[in-house]
Amino acid sequence: MRAAFLDRDGVINLDLGYVYRQEDFRFVPGALQACRVLSESGLGLFVVTNQSGIGRGLFTEEDFRSITRYMCDELGRAGAPVLKVYHCPHHPEAKIARYRVACECRKPKPGMILEAAREFGVDLASSVLFGDSPRDIEAGSAAGVGERVILGRDGLEEPETLPRGATAGFRNLLDAVRSPWFQKFLQRPTS
Ligand SMILES: [Mg+2]
Ligand SMILES: [Zn+2]
Repeated sequence: MRAAFLDRDGVINLDLGYVYRQEDFRFVPGALQACRVLSESGLGLFVVTNQSGIGRGLFTEEDFRSITRYMCDELGRAGAPVLKVYHCPHHPEAKIARYRVACECRKPKPGMILEAAREFGVDLASSVLFGDSPRDIEAGSAAGVGERVILGRDGLEEPETLPRGATAGFRNLLDAVRSPWFQKFLQRPTS
């Protein structure tokens, strides 16, 4: 399967900082529509998100599950079903002891992407990752994801420079899927 790996905060929803309440979860303009295009293009949708707010004690796993349910419901209704959401609750300086680990899942580590690849048989080389931070791109590179796209945070501005390892840059997801780059990506032979 070819996949689209999506960072959450700043890519799907506005990055207001440690978002866990439904009233703070605001979709980036065009994100739902863009995810539908990705899905209808035959890409399996995965969300890979650092959520150190859990380890920091700012919200709980249950809070995260509930906001994730909301997000997935909305994406599903928009014709963009998410196959699975992977999150990392850890932080090396987490307040809650059991989350205070140097894990393999926190981006820039590739753990979440590699797990999705194992679980779903994703062909990483012909897949794409979208993120708004250099550490998203780094995780994609480390996992061997073929295309690594940097987006402007909250979909607002074109990224000024491509971080190391980025293969393309766009203002937001919708601009990306409407671009010639995306058509070229879809036509790429799969391994
Ligand atoms: Mg982000
Ligand atoms: Zn982790």
